[in-house]
Amino acid sequence: MVDPYHFAPMSEHPLPTMIEPFKLVAKRALVDGPVELDSLPRLRDELANKTSQEGFAEVELAFQRDQQGFATASGYVRATAGVVCQRCLGVVSIPLEASVSWAFITDETAFEDVPKAYDAIMVEDEAVSLFDLIEDELLLALPPVPMHEEGECKAPDHQSHDEGFANGSEVKQNPFEVLAEIKKKS
Ligand SMILES: [Zn+2]
Repeated sequence: MVDPYHFAPMSEHPLPTMIEPFKLVAKRALVDGPVELDSLPRLRDELANKTSQEGFAEVELAFQRDQQGFATASGYVRATAGVVCQRCLGVVSIPLEASVSWAFITDETAFEDVPKAYDAIMVEDEAVSLFDLIEDELLLALPPVPMHEEGECKAPDHQSHDEGFANGSEVKQNPFEVLAEIKKKS
């Protein structure tokens, strides 16, 4: 996805919790490596298997200044998450993948100046929590109502799930839709 030869490799295992994005941009750093899902507590609360020691997210981020002068990071965050199927209440493994497009700003930058293609990330005192940002991306990638594929679900009425929703418990509102709205507005 990113040509590594144009970036200074900064592979660290494990990845640092906090980063200084403007320094990484100045170095054109490529930050990649695994992040333990257990170190992302808000995401872990959404997972079926909260004590999994083997779950890792894969992260690859290229830091660079864009043509308009914004300090940016682009790349991806992906993980496989075990969540509770809302039809049969069994565990379903779902791939989570988010394309990252961040523009780092300070309080001197007006939010409305940031191109819409970026999520604006406010940086105070030079540093931000990389783990918080990664966690936000994975939470937004979670489906609102996770379910098995047709044929893999153990729910007896999986052939007619529309009916199941009508008769069964109400569909839970995904709290992270709220977060998505906030991110869109910012
Ligand atoms: Zn199921």
